[in-house]
Amino acid sequence: MRRLVAAALIVGAAALSRASASPGPAHQSSARYEFSSQHMGTLARIVLYAPGEAAARDASSRAFARIAELDAVMSDYREDSELTALCRRAGQGPVRVSGDLFRVLAASVRLAHDSGGAFDVTAAPLIHLWRRARRIGQLPDRAEIEAARALTGRDRLILDARTHTADLRSAGMQIDLGGIGKGFAAQEAAALIRRLGYRTALIAIGGDIVAVGAPPGRTGWTIDVADLTTGGKAPQQILLRDAAVSTSGDAEQWVAIDGVRYSHIIDPRSGMALTGRRSVTVMAPDGTLSDALATTVCVLGPVEGLALIERTTGAAARISLLEGDGIRRFASRRWRYFAAAGSGPMSTFRNSTSAPSA
Ligand code: ADP
Ligand code: MG
Repeated sequence: MRRLVAAALIVGAAALSRASASPGPAHQSSARYEFSSQHMGTLARIVLYAPGEAAARDASSRAFARIAELDAVMSDYREDSELTALCRRAGQGPVRVSGDLFRVLAASVRLAHDSGGAFDVTAAPLIHLWRRARRIGQLPDRAEIEAARALTGRDRLILDARTHTADLRSAGMQIDLGGIGKGFAAQEAAALIRRLGYRTALIAIGGDIVAVGAPPGRTGWTIDVADLTTGGKAPQQILLRDAAVSTSGDAEQWVAIDGVRYSHIIDPRSGMALTGRRSVTVMAPDGTLSDALATTVCVLGPVEGLALIERTTGAAARISLLEGDGIRRFASRRWRYFAAAGSGPMSTFRNSTSAPSA
């Protein structure tokens, strides 16, 4: 769960201050405050409309604390995380887990099912192999990939909602929540901010962004969405309100070996890291889903990936692929409802016909 550069930038609304006549529980009359802090290997940012700085600071520190708490549950880098403890007991039967860990695992299992295994948090052994490959600049060999594949499989992570347990069926199995954890944490931070009575906020953990409401007088938060290098072209802007956006791709974490570029996203079905350059942006009703779907669509590619997006309620996506010298873009049907007016050409992807654009 590590990322150094955010894939999307918050443009936000222009700073705005109005006199705070009646602070009230909904904090409607308020000014804009922004805070940032390092979490989950990346920069976490919170933009909040609050009646005063003290209130804004208090709410954002609580939200950052919630993110830190979830990192302590989900991190595979930390020896003392709940996830690490669960993985140590792989092969030993069902283990009772916290509500937080159960929910993020349940969302993972659902998407593993819906994607036919393209998204799979049990792919940790493969992810570790490819992480080492990036570090040493050398491909894993076939036997290593097969050994890691033998410990991977969505049917080996069994959840039981009644007993609140997770059962990792084989000894040596591991779980990696890198493809879903930041979106889940951003969503949980947004829920906390809502519970505190705020109605206008934006929470970003790296490229996973959750919007609460919209800035005063606006229909949504304006977000710049990064793409593949587009030669200085202005990034696409989207409008987001009570929804989430995530961007995945191989912009930052990859290795080139013998002229082939290998991503940090792997296809659990083949055991291979993705090759070629791509960037996928997904909008969804919540951050857990947008984060996990963005990773999934990277693996599935435009045809199957957009089919999954179309059958997911409230989801929209754009895919950019580098092909030769040009970038090919695809968008799902609902993408245009989010795209801010006048933000560049876009082709809508329909079934098997793909229309290149720009
Ligand atoms: P980032 O973490 O760079 O924002 P993603 O959300 O796409 O990007 O997550 C990538 C991470 O997800 C990888 O570093 C790895 O930990 C994990 N991962 C890679 N491939 C898969 C996959 N097929 N299914 C589930 N998780 C994956
Ligand atoms: Mg993701």
